[in-house]
Amino acid sequence: MNPDPSEPRVFLVGAGPGSPGLMTLRGAEVLGRADLVLYDQLVPARLLDLAPATAERVCVRDLPGQHPDKYPHIHQRLIEAATAGKTVVRLKGGDPLIFGRGGEEAEALRAAHLPYEIVPGVTAALAAGAVLELPLTHRLYASAIALVTGHELPNKPGNKLDWKALAAFPGTLAIYMGIARLPVIVNELLKHGKPPDTPAGIVERASTGDQRSVFATLGELEDARRNAGLEAPGLILVGDTVAQRAPHPWFEARPLFGRRVLVTRPAHQAAAMVKKLEHLGAVVARMPAVEIRPLADFAQLDRALEQVRAGEWDWLVFTSANGVRAFFDRLHALDRDARDLGRTKLAAIGPKTADALREFRLRADLVPPSTFSSEGLAEALKPHVSGTRVLLPRANRGRDVLRTELSQVATVEQVTVYEQVDAVEPDDAVLDALRRGEIRYVTLPSPNIARGVLAGFDETIRGRVERGEIRLVCISPITGAAVRELGLPVAAEATTFTEDGLIAAVVDLARRE
Ligand code: SAH
Repeated sequence: MNPDPSEPRVFLVGAGPGSPGLMTLRGAEVLGRADLVLYDQLVPARLLDLAPATAERVCVRDLPGQHPDKYPHIHQRLIEAATAGKTVVRLKGGDPLIFGRGGEEAEALRAAHLPYEIVPGVTAALAAGAVLELPLTHRLYASAIALVTGHELPNKPGNKLDWKALAAFPGTLAIYMGIARLPVIVNELLKHGKPPDTPAGIVERASTGDQRSVFATLGELEDARRNAGLEAPGLILVGDTVAQRAPHPWFEARPLFGRRVLVTRPAHQAAAMVKKLEHLGAVVARMPAVEIRPLADFAQLDRALEQVRAGEWDWLVFTSANGVRAFFDRLHALDRDARDLGRTKLAAIGPKTADALREFRLRADLVPPSTFSSEGLAEALKPHVSGTRVLLPRANRGRDVLRTELSQVATVEQVTVYEQVDAVEPDDAVLDALRRGEIRYVTLPSPNIARGVLAGFDETIRGRVERGEIRLVCISPITGAAVRELGLPVAAEATTFTEDGLIAAVVDLARRE
């Protein structure tokens, strides 16, 4: 990336507690121009997508040396890259300066005379307050909050924690890194006079779809944790404010909270869908399918574009956003622009395709009112195109319905504007998760993708689908038919044939289960 002379080269950035949306704008901005991202293991994977595609991404776990000797390696890597003129983002869980050793990294940079900036992050305790709807301070119950490490054993030499003071602390205790030592921590607090009936709780992976929480009195907290099976990383909360939490916090009340959903849209289209599902509470896995490829030979398309310029077509009918983009990309590559379309009318199969036209400052003359399928489009178009000449820019293959239907009343030709590849990039991690039953909803956004995805299913996965443990959710009855043809049951079909319709079908199904 082009270095900005007004900015330092190294950024120590807080990634927040786990939900990608909880990183700061400044963090996202500097990540967006990083050459090297050195990230902690707990940093949400989706945040790394914010870095340029060309950026090198290194998990500090993979650096040589075991914790705590790893730190010199991290420092060294930061310094080397920055000295070489790279923009480096050191991405750390929560806030860099709260139990994050960010101070040591800053010190190493200072010693190397490298300018840096520290971007704060939402620390686990603050996120826990928000997602559990638990007031960390309270007019009546807590005038202070203490962020405490549970990592230091009470009998460790040089231990700096004053358990007597903590037991008497007039507020909420938020104890980090304490799950493995919970019995010792509880014991110390009780020993120093904290009442055993003090309200307490644990939240594991707060702010993520994997979040789990358990509440009990301080005296019974370890039993409750064990029964609920909560593990690290988790935060322990102790104090009267814990009893003031909302009974059904908003975060866990979302319709897909904790549900595991697979998104199979192609990589460049998946981001929006992943975000929507995550906002509904889902844990999303991705296995991108059907990549779009530009044409190997443009001769036919170029001829059609000539005809469009000559005003030989009355209608251009687009059946996908990809088709719109490929069409105009080629027009622009030929050094021409939308004026070539003149009075040609435009139709779009649905709102997403109409949006793609809008990207080129064009308004669709016709979008079917509700059914966003070839049939719906044909029905809506027929009264308008009678006796006219209609061009259908489309993928190298697809259904023939539109051409057949419209041919009854108009002169229709198809032109291939992009190539659709059926390949599903088989992702072993995702297939393993399916085999183990760790993904419940598989979303299928087109018949081609459905065929591609199902081709990767082995007997174990098919068995789970047949027994209803994995639910196949289809964007439309056509996609549903493609699934049934391959001998597998369809759990739900969207009633509106859009991405939002597909998501709504998952929500609806989850609500019924
Ligand atoms: N710098 C981080 C803390 C790093 S220490 C911050 O500001 O949040 C790691 C500990 O933080 C974990 O052992 C756990 O106690 C806590 N932690 C981090 N993320 C968490 C999360 N999402 N939910 C609960 N605890 C979390």
